[in-house]
Amino acid sequence: MIFYSTKTASLKASLEEAIFNSLPPDNGLYMPESIPKISDEFLANIENRSFKEIAGEVTDTLLGGEITRSEIESIIERAYDFEAPVVKITPNDYVLELFHGPSMAFKDFGARFMAAIMSHFLKQSNKEIKILVATSGDTGGAVAQGFYKVPGISVTILYPSGKVSDIQEKQLTTLGHNVTAIEVNGTFDDCQRLVKEAFLDPELSAKYNLASANSINIARLIPQSFYYFAAYAQLKKLGKPVVFSVPSGNFGNLSAGVLAFRMGLPVEHFIAATNLNNAVPRYLESGNYEPAPSLETISNAMDVGSPSNFVRLQRFFNDDWKSVTEKVSGYFFNDEQTQKAMREVFGNANYVMCPHTAVAYRGLQEYRKTHEGDFTGVFLSTAHPAKFIDLVEDTLGKNIEIPERLKSLLNIEKESIKMDSDFNAFKSLLMNDLK
Ligand SMILES: *Cc1c(COP(=O)(O)O)cnc(C)c1O
Repeated sequence: MIFYSTKTASLKASLEEAIFNSLPPDNGLYMPESIPKISDEFLANIENRSFKEIAGEVTDTLLGGEITRSEIESIIERAYDFEAPVVKITPNDYVLELFHGPSMAFKDFGARFMAAIMSHFLKQSNKEIKILVATSGDTGGAVAQGFYKVPGISVTILYPSGKVSDIQEKQLTTLGHNVTAIEVNGTFDDCQRLVKEAFLDPELSAKYNLASANSINIARLIPQSFYYFAAYAQLKKLGKPVVFSVPSGNFGNLSAGVLAFRMGLPVEHFIAATNLNNAVPRYLESGNYEPAPSLETISNAMDVGSPSNFVRLQRFFNDDWKSVTEKVSGYFFNDEQTQKAMREVFGNANYVMCPHTAVAYRGLQEYRKTHEGDFTGVFLSTAHPAKFIDLVEDTLGKNIEIPERLKSLLNIEKESIKMDSDFNAFKSLLMNDLK
C-alpha cells in the first residue's frame, strides 16, 4: 500500500516510512492512495470468524503487498490477547466494549498493533527508536503497555502534572524498563508542544530515531477498523442494518470506522458524538469548520478543540461536505446530559458506563428520535468505567468494582521525572538519556 500526504498528493511514502515518520514532511497526514475491498466471500462468512481472523484478513487486504500473511498473523497474535465483545443494552441497542486490553481503554487496539508492526520492521534493520508521546490520560497508558519491553524501542511519555486520574497516572509511571514518564508542570497542550519541538530539533534527530505514537500515525488508525468488522460479525445474524455511534475527540476512532466502510463493510450510518468540544458536529450541521480552544468536560479524553484526524475524515469522502453528511450525523452533549445518560442506563439495564461511553449512548438515542427505521444501534465503549471511578461513583451514587488489573497498580510507587514546561530542560533530559 502506498500512502500520500493530504497536503501534497505527489508526496508518497511506503508503509514503513509512513509508520516511522508518523507525519509527512509537509505536515499533512498520510492517507492510503487507494482503498482495497474486503472479499465478498469473507464478508459472507464473517460471523464464523474470530477477532484475530478478522484482524488478519483486514490487514492482509490493506497491507498484503508489503507483509506476508504469516508475518501478519504473528503481528496479530502478538498484539491481541483480548477481544471486542458486544453486549445488549436495550432490545435494539448494543454496546461494543473496547476496554478489555491491558490499559482498559480502546487505545490498546491501536497501540498494541503499532508496537507489533514496528518491531516487525525493526527486526530487518538495526535502528534504535525513541517514541515520544504526549498524553492527556489514556494514550500514554496504552502506548506504555504496548511498547513495554519491546527490544530496540524506548518510550518517553509526557503528561500534565495533576491533570490525569490516579489510575491513569499509575499506568504511566509504574512500568519502568524502557518506559520513562515525565511529569510536566503545565497543561496537555504544553506537553504536545514540547514533543513537536523535539521532532524539529536537529541535535535530537541526529542522536535518535524519534517516532510519534499519537493517533495521527497510520499504524494506529488501521487496527481501529478491526473492531467495526468484529461488531458487525457478532450482530449479522439479527439481519438488520447497523448504525455505529462513536464518542469522539481527535476523530481517529470514527475515521477508522469510515475506513472499514470504504473497504466494503455494510454500515448504514455513523454518529459522531462529542461533548461541548463540538467543532465536527457543528461542521456537519453548517458546512463551516471552526476549530476552537478546548473546553474541560467530564469526558476529558474527548476535550479536543481542533481534532487532528478531521482532515482524514473529510478526505475519506473526497472533501465533499454533502457526502460526509449523508453517512455521518453529529450530536454534542453537556456534562449534565452525559451524567443523566449514565444514570439512565444504570437504572434500566444495570450497566455502568464511563462518561465517554455515555456520550455515544446519548448520540444514538438522539439519532433514533429522527430515524425510525429498523436498525441495530451499536455505541462504542472506549474505556472501563473504573478508570474514572470518582466521577462514576458520584454520578451513580454507588460504589463500583475496580478490576484487579487496575487495583494492583494503586499499591505500586509511581516513578516520574518532574520538569517545568521548558524545551531546553526537556532536550537536556533527552540528550543525557534521561539519567
Ligand atoms: C481517546 C479517547 C476517545 C476519543 O477517541 P478519538 O479517536 O480521539 O476520537 C474517547 N474515549 C476515550 C476513553 C479515549 O481515551
